[in-house]
Amino acid sequence: MLAAMPPTPTTPPDRGERRIRDRGDACPGALRLHAADDGLLARLRLPGGLLTRHQLCALATAAERLGDGALSVTSRGNAELRGLTDGCGAELAELLRDAGLLPSDTHERVRNVVASPLAGLDGLGSADVQLWARELDALLCASDRAAGLSGRFLFALDDGRGDVAGLGADVTLLAGADGRAVLRVGRHAVRVPATDAARAALAAAEAFLTAAAGAGTGAWRVRELPEGHEIGVDESLERAGVAAEPLPHVTGTERSAPGAAPEPPEDRPEGPGTGPLPGVVAGPDGWTVSVAAPLGRLTAAQLRQLLPAPANEVRLTPWRGAVVPGFADRGTARAHLDALGRAGLITGTDSPWWGVGACTGRPGCAKSLADVRADVTPGRGGLPVYWSGCERRCGRPQGEYVDVVATRDGAYRVTAHGSPVPVPSRAELEGTIATARTRTTK
Ligand code: SF4
Repeated sequence: MLAAMPPTPTTPPDRGERRIRDRGDACPGALRLHAADDGLLARLRLPGGLLTRHQLCALATAAERLGDGALSVTSRGNAELRGLTDGCGAELAELLRDAGLLPSDTHERVRNVVASPLAGLDGLGSADVQLWARELDALLCASDRAAGLSGRFLFALDDGRGDVAGLGADVTLLAGADGRAVLRVGRHAVRVPATDAARAALAAAEAFLTAAAGAGTGAWRVRELPEGHEIGVDESLERAGVAAEPLPHVTGTERSAPGAAPEPPEDRPEGPGTGPLPGVVAGPDGWTVSVAAPLGRLTAAQLRQLLPAPANEVRLTPWRGAVVPGFADRGTARAHLDALGRAGLITGTDSPWWGVGACTGRPGCAKSLADVRADVTPGRGGLPVYWSGCERRCGRPQGEYVDVVATRDGAYRVTAHGSPVPVPSRAELEGTIATARTRTTK
């Protein structure tokens, strides 16, 4: 059952608030290609990061035939094709449609759903939120209102382990061990039955749309709503027929309102979370292989190698990795992990590329002050390190990391724990980063 559609204000009330933007959402999609300096760019939303074998092969084919031969894994577990040739849009759309990667043309950019990658695989979570992701995806695509969400609006479905709950989503569901889930949106936190979790997430998103229209400031994200424009989550849940129990809780950097009751045990503190470590993972029903993509890039050949027969599913992760479930025993999982290591993927935390990331930089991004991917240096251990070609820091990780940003004088600035360090030479750069990575947190 879909939520009944509440009235949408046609004329925003004049509350004297300043619009934060006047332009429409130009976020790239599979159908709306972005003209980058290295060619056209397509961003494909993959709810839960899920790709079937057929879809994986379609993306590999698209990368080879139309793009630069590789695929980027984004910080939302989505996929990007770069270096696409002019005029390839129709052929790309047909490839994706045939593979089931375009279930709705009108909703293709709003299917931003991250879900715990190991849900249902390692026996640790409280719910298989990958199933919630599929249900939410179907509900989103069936909702006319949801087509009005920004391409930046994010849902996070956490199976209770606290990995994706800290990714700064607009709507977060956190599964509990009692068959219920905590729904968080803005300052609201309510508990809902797990069976209604996906419908509750959609209802919360629709409530945001109503609040955003009322504010009239052009907000795309929940955190952009001005003060005084509360999101009517409770009313929206009621219209959707979801029984919700209010929780005295506020989100974001605030933890609990003064005098609030203790937080429920399943509502874990927010934080950066950590994705699956590379290696093999045991579960009640089999073994899973976990790898990471060096600098978030997978060649078409590596993509195809991810899935050995008869495995039929890959989940891309918000930590720019992939998990491959479906191995009967540890030996076959280990053999596949080793094969992926030989193919150039990160298969252990002892890899010098583990924890190292970079934005697109030159030549793909016109804003970049450097070819950061050429400048990146590997290293071992400690904090993640992220290289950016400019101050925007696209795709940077959540939580603490070593921040390496190109500067106008052709150098980089390294910042860790709030202490910027100017680095004039490359030799000093490597030493500074190594030191910053191993500094202990204050
Ligand atoms: S951080 Fe700057 S240089 Fe890097 S991709 Fe973003 S805009 Fe481009």
